[in-house]
This record gives sequence, structure tokens and C-alpha cells, in this order.
Amino acid sequence: MSTPEELQAKLQATERQLDELTAEVARNEAKMRRSQRREMRLLQAEDLTTLLSELTVGMKTSYGLEKVSVVLCDPDHDVRHLLLAAGTPADELEGLIFVESMAGVTPQYVALRQPWLGPYTACDHQIIFPGDRRLGSVALIPLTYRGKLLGSINLGSADTLRFTRDHASDFLAHLGVIASYCVENVINRARLLRSGFTDVLTGWHNRRYLQVRIKEELARVSREGSNLVCLMLDIDHFKRVNDTWGHAAGDVVLREIAQRIEAEVRSSDVAARYGGEEFIVLLPNTDTQSGVRLAERIRTAISATPVELPGGEEVTITASIGIAGVAPERHVEDLKTLGDSLIARADVALYQAKSDGRDRVAVAEAA
Ligand code: GH3
Ligand code: MG
Ligand code: MG
Repeated sequence: MSTPEELQAKLQATERQLDELTAEVARNEAKMRRSQRREMRLLQAEDLTTLLSELTVGMKTSYGLEKVSVVLCDPDHDVRHLLLAAGTPADELEGLIFVESMAGVTPQYVALRQPWLGPYTACDHQIIFPGDRRLGSVALIPLTYRGKLLGSINLGSADTLRFTRDHASDFLAHLGVIASYCVENVINRARLLRSGFTDVLTGWHNRRYLQVRIKEELARVSREGSNLVCLMLDIDHFKRVNDTWGHAAGDVVLREIAQRIEAEVRSSDVAARYGGEEFIVLLPNTDTQSGVRLAERIRTAISATPVELPGGEEVTITASIGIAGVAPERHVEDLKTLGDSLIARADVALYQAKSDGRDRVAVAEAA
């Protein structure tokens, strides 16, 4: 039997443990929220310059670290050229280090699949933290693309206990996965912008891209013996938007409509801004009936909710959609003509939808 004093002591000990646990939970929660905020910032970065400064200066500030650097393997100087084209020479970005190869940079790169946490050593870490000998511990977070190591985010703290091997590194691993995805994404976007296949207003692919892709898609469906459906969408009375609210409001409407279409299509579909207020979506391996269902969904997504203009006014927009489908023979030779005629038939159907009263879907006669 315990005495009342012993019981009292046990109770106090339990209370202390509980307080410690509660504090630990609160610390972990704060850490998680901070990581989530950081990841949101990365996902919101729309271009290479913004993303890279979020990964370097942004990380340094939000984690209160002495030093943060990002190493990127860029043997063809591709990323550096993209930065230059975007108006930010690489050496203007603090903490960004380009290497020609991942070999020999630091011994930890040899098997870096998960974040590496441990003590700072000048001989191992002088390339990734140039000129910094004040550091006590470091975390190297791998940046990967399709399983290949492309670089790392390097966090450096003066505190020798900040990053140790016993530390839970789940947060950092998660951050690394998100950061890798973001880096790949902004690099791809920057490449597209340069290649002339992208429409600057909407960020969509443009007509040139569509002309290349339609031939590829036709070749594929002809090999596979399936169908390609083409939707051609044109905003109704769009000129009135420009005339009433001005060109800038018109641009806002175009962007919004592009987003609403995008939200309905699959990533395997090919969507492009074909001209001023005309959009085309190619649906591989789809029959005309499914194409009509998708077109109706897009039409409704556009008309159901008014678009908010910069001045706060709202305008209801409608669109008309023409649909044509083709099931090419195997070994078809003239893919260009076949593509042109598919688009022309969708255009005729679109004209029909317009003359039938707009805000509707019309299907072309079979070829
Ligand atoms: P319909 O219902 O017959 O399609 O009528 P509409 O007014 O939509 O068609 P029309 O072809 O007469 O007008 C299209 C307008 O789109 C004219 C053009 O100035 C405008 N436009 C084209 N590209 C852009 C753009 O990038 N931004 C803006 N704001 N307007 C554009
Ligand atoms: Mg038009
Ligand atoms: Mg129009």
C-alpha cells in the first residue's frame, strides 16, 4: 500500500509527464504548420526565380537558419539560360550553386535518397556552403527527378544539435518531395515559354503546339485503331465584353474561361488556345458521345457561375462548342490534311451551334 505522500508524488510525476507530452505535441504541431506554410509558398511560386528564392532566402528566414543553399546539377547550362531569359542572371540569386555533375561535390550525395542530417565538416561541405565555417550541423534534402538525384536543398545551423542523425526527418523528406516537384514544374514551364508553344495570356498551349500534337495524336489513334474527338469552343459575344468593360476585363474573362475548361479535362487530353477567344480540346480514345458529355460539362461550367471582373462587377459568359470525331485508318499517310479536316469539321459544327442560338453544343456530320 502506498502512503498518501507517495501517491501525491506519483501524481505530480504523472502530471509533469503529461505537461511534457502536451508541450511536445504543441511543438510538433507548430513545426507541421510551419512546414505546410513553406510548402504552400513553394507550390504557389510560378516561375524559376521566385521558386529558387523561396527555396534559399525563404527557407533561411522561416526556419531561422544561418545558411541555406540550393545545389542544382546543370551540365548543359540549361537552367542558367532559362534564368537569364527570365531576366535574373544566376549569380544574382543568393545561395544558388550550379554544378556540372553531382560526383565529388559532397560524399553524402553518393546515396542521398532521404534527407541526410549530421555535423558540418569543412572538407565535406565547403562546396555546398562556400566560405562558411561557423556551421555546427547541416541537413541535405535531395532534389530528385524520376528517381535521379538532381541537386539538394542544404540547411545549415550554427547549433550542433539542430540537425542530428537521431532527428525525425519526415517533415524534411516531405518538403523535399514537394520542392522536387516544384523545381521540375517551373523548369518545364520556363522551357515552354521559350519554345514558342505557350500562350502568354492563359499559360495554355497555343495553336502551333496544337498543330504538332494533332498529328501525333492522329498517328497514335490510327496505330491503336481508336478515335480522336476534337472540341472547338468559342466564347459567345465576346466582343461585347471588350466593348463594355475594356480589353483588360476581356483578358480576365479569357483566363477564367481557360481555367474552367482546364478543370474539366483530363491530363491526357490536349488543350490549346486556338485563337482570340477560341479554344480546342483533343480527346484521344474517346467516342463522340463521351465528347458531347464533356462538352456539356464545360458549357455548364462556363455559364453556371458569372465571372468576376476586376472592378467587382459580374458578367455571365456563355460559349458554343462544335464537336467532330475521326477514326483514322491504319497507316494513314497525310496526317496534316486529316488534322486540318478534323478541325474544319469541328468549326462547321461550331458555326451551327452559333446559328442555332449559341450557348449550346453541336456535333459534325460523320466524315
Ligand atoms: P460570337 O458569339 O459570334 O463568337 O461573337 P464574338 O463577339 O465572340 O466574336 P468576334 O469574333 O466578333 O469577336 C471576338 C473578339 O475577341 C474580337 C477581339 O478583339 C477579341 N479578342 C481576341 N483576342 C483577345 C485577347 O487576347 N484579349 C481580349 N481582351 N480580347 C481579345
Ligand atoms: Mg471567334
Ligand atoms: Mg466568339
